[in-house]
Amino acid sequence: MNLPDNVAPVELPPTLNPAAAGAPIGLPSTIGDLASYDFNVGPHVKARTVVKELERRPELPGVLVLDRHVCIGMASRHKCFEMLSRPYGVEVFLNRPIQTLCKELAIAPTFLPAQTRIDDAVQSALDRPFEQLYEPVIAQFDGGALKLLDLHVLLLAQSRLLANANSLVRQQIEIGRALSSTLELQEVLDMILHHMAEIIPYDRAGIMLQNGPVLEFIAARGFPPQADIRQMRVDILESDIYQEMCYTQQPISIPDVSQQPDWRYMDGLAAARAWAGLPLIHSGYVIGMLSLTRLAADDYSQDELALAQTFAGQAAIALQNARLYAEIKRFNQELESKVQERTEALQAACAKLERLDRTKSDFIGVASHELRTPLTVMSGYTQMLRSDPAIQANQNHSQMLMGIYAGITRLHQVVNSMLDVIKIDSRNLQLCCKTFDLGRLINSLQDEFAPLAAERHQMLSVQDVESLPPIEGDSDALYTVFYHLIVNAIKYTPVGGGVTISAHQPDMDWIEIVVSDTGIGIDPAHHELIFEKFYQTGQVLLHSSGKTKFKGGGPGLGLAIARGIVEAHGGKIWVESVRQDELVCPGSQFHVRLPIGGN
Ligand code: ADP
Repeated sequence: MNLPDNVAPVELPPTLNPAAAGAPIGLPSTIGDLASYDFNVGPHVKARTVVKELERRPELPGVLVLDRHVCIGMASRHKCFEMLSRPYGVEVFLNRPIQTLCKELAIAPTFLPAQTRIDDAVQSALDRPFEQLYEPVIAQFDGGALKLLDLHVLLLAQSRLLANANSLVRQQIEIGRALSSTLELQEVLDMILHHMAEIIPYDRAGIMLQNGPVLEFIAARGFPPQADIRQMRVDILESDIYQEMCYTQQPISIPDVSQQPDWRYMDGLAAARAWAGLPLIHSGYVIGMLSLTRLAADDYSQDELALAQTFAGQAAIALQNARLYAEIKRFNQELESKVQERTEALQAACAKLERLDRTKSDFIGVASHELRTPLTVMSGYTQMLRSDPAIQANQNHSQMLMGIYAGITRLHQVVNSMLDVIKIDSRNLQLCCKTFDLGRLINSLQDEFAPLAAERHQMLSVQDVESLPPIEGDSDALYTVFYHLIVNAIKYTPVGGGVTISAHQPDMDWIEIVVSDTGIGIDPAHHELIFEKFYQTGQVLLHSSGKTKFKGGGPGLGLAIARGIVEAHGGKIWVESVRQDELVCPGSQFHVRLPIGGN
């Protein structure tokens, strides 16, 4: 191109240079990153020369007029042609120096430092007076270079930024959704790398996690298909770039790694030029790194690094989620195995208890059988002695014999209870059922217990039993049930209290007998337990050999036998009592519900 000496050749900015086509273009954030033009001329260059150049290069927004490097004016394309299109324009201006035209235009150019952010530059350009609105602005680079920036280029860059911001928001929402909906770490990391590529161009990207002295790749994009990223790792060396990142917790960008003598290239991969590393930070610690590589030397803009850092943040969250999930899974497994262990221990304890219970039952069975024979012998001899006239004649001996006899009878009862409970335990209780009058049985029990109640100055009354229908059942067994309930009622009711046996028929199929007392009552916590064999609420030390002595504990078998018999009849037995209180004596009510037609 033949231009006069003081006309500088026009250079296209690198980002518009076709030679660089295909190379990744970074996200512009300042006006220095944008396509600008340094077409400048001396003040005496003829306007004709400038106009010719403007005609030849339609992309030039105008010309800067420099006088020994000092800008003395600017003539924009459209102002030039506007002037020349006036009737006298060609004549007056074409043959005169360009500075004349500039003076005539009298437009003060807008200078902006090259580091001005695009948004701010757009704002200052649009804030200009109306007649200057379409003028290019002048970007001032470090070192003094001045370049013209077309307003359209500026506006296009801003709209691109906005479009990027929009798509970024969409992507962030999508990643956020993935983060909260999937626990598939690989899926989320791949998505992060994929979305990042749409905003920040890169040739290769990798997410690495620190594992002791190495960084291990856990996700990658842009690597050759034969590369097995699971096998790829980078040793962390003393004060290397990763160590520096751990320390500063800030992104690091290297425009051209080929300028770094100690840069470690990875085997089998095309050599990197521009590189950026973003720390993955969790709980205030760097746990890994997001690495971005471009094959051409380039500068990552501050905006790109800031954006990449948000993707790195999401990768850190995904990793944390995965870690927590793995931890919960491990915790669950541990819990499961602990539960399993405990269950086994419980099962073993249960089996042991069952064995012990069996042994206890066996012992009671053996003991009661063994006791029965000598008891029968003792009872026989006592009977014989009672009828001996010599003993009958001696009042003292006679009384002692009565004592022995009473003891043997009580022992008999205890042994019988033991035998009953063994039968119930081993499900050997044989019921001999026939239709009988339960009301009459209860009346006879009242007669039997009347002297004992009188001894304790208690009122023993029976209500409404006459109206009971005959029922199907084993009268001997049911006698045992009410025998134990009445004995208990008398035993746990203080002197002067009362015991009432009442009956009613809740429906056609059932009858219900309630043995109520005005005794000490039973704590609700014990309502079920007292039906277990050998269970007693009081102190075992208070045991009494007397059948009805106040609170005199027995062997703890009465209620277990009663429940066994009632249930064998297909009935139910339960107790109601508000609490145990020896001062207030709230009393207890033992309910026995039996099917009229038997089991
Ligand atoms: P025991 O031979 O000890 O009387 P039971 O099986 O008949 O055994 O009764 C178990 C426990 O239930 C008793 O030790 C006593 O604490 C409680 N109990 C039974 N009946 C009554 C009642 N009417 N009032 C208060 N407590 C009772």
